[in-house]
Amino acid sequence: MNIEQLSSAVMAGERRALARAITLIESSRADHRAQAAELAEHLKQADGQALRIGLSGTPGVGKSTFIESFGMMLTGQGLRVAVLAVDPSSARSGGSILGDKTRMDRLSRDPKAFIRPSPSRSHLGGVARRTREAVNLCEAAGFDVVLIETVGVGQSETVVAEMSDVFVLLLAPAGGDELQGVKRGIMEMADIILINKADGDLKAAAQRTCADYAGALRLLRKRPQDPDGFPKAMTVSALEEDGLKTAWAEMQALTEWRRENGFFDRRRTEQAQYWFEQEVRQALLARLETPQARAAFREASADVAASRVTPTAAAATLLEKLGIDTR
Ligand code: GDP
Repeated sequence: MNIEQLSSAVMAGERRALARAITLIESSRADHRAQAAELAEHLKQADGQALRIGLSGTPGVGKSTFIESFGMMLTGQGLRVAVLAVDPSSARSGGSILGDKTRMDRLSRDPKAFIRPSPSRSHLGGVARRTREAVNLCEAAGFDVVLIETVGVGQSETVVAEMSDVFVLLLAPAGGDELQGVKRGIMEMADIILINKADGDLKAAAQRTCADYAGALRLLRKRPQDPDGFPKAMTVSALEEDGLKTAWAEMQALTEWRRENGFFDRRRTEQAQYWFEQEVRQALLARLETPQARAAFREASADVAASRVTPTAAAATLLEKLGIDTR
């Protein structure tokens, strides 16, 4: 299959072609990079637009259970759902928290669903770029909803929030001072907070936790991109498939409002600019990571330590060696 055929198959929504295309964009081989660029060129004619939903939560809150129930509900409504992951552990170790094949067993067998684990790359920037490109491929393949999942650690939440239209934070019920556990910055990114496991013995605790978060959200500064009542906290039970329709209705209502008021397109434009800046920054940082740059760095650093040269002058000399003129 040549690239033109592959792109036609992707646009026809064929899942195997989509999987192949993602494998191609994940490859760092030079010939694959060239083919990926050619593919992107062909896919420019695709005009699909999916709703991109980011989902973050610490291990154990029920992300896989939620994605499976929520995804099955959406496919049950005739929607096509893609699930992608940004997994910082796969970036670090090559192993993956989110890549387990046994997760989302029912959804993975649903012909209207497509599930892809996180690419393993040496750094989060690489994972972010591949995931962004994969989101575009899923859109070209005509998926209606793209769910982008991440574990709530480090920078991965920002990465996912910056590539989604709606950012959902999934939490579990907890007692006492659980609000301390969620960093303010993450609360500020959330459009919807879902307290999962609102069932059985945990139901009352989930409702209390939900009320606590609803209160905390009201204390945050009002964001222009939110209609009244957002960001919002709600309870769900992924296990008993309870509250999922309501959560989906809220996501749709929020999206609808943002579309009508220009915030949907504005967010995507700002995200494109954000990723442009990140790419430039990362490319510059990568220049420091070559063996030659590291050696030059160590040498200059020793000169600074021995007071042979000032930090400013040493930096300017080093950057000049890398072809960056600071004067
Ligand atoms: P993940 O690590 O965030 O992907 O979490 P999992 O989906 O693997 O779920 C972790 C545990 O929580 C599992 O034992 C699930 O059965 C359980 N769980 C997930 N959702 C619910 C729920 O809605 N209610 C209850 N009671 N348990 C749940």
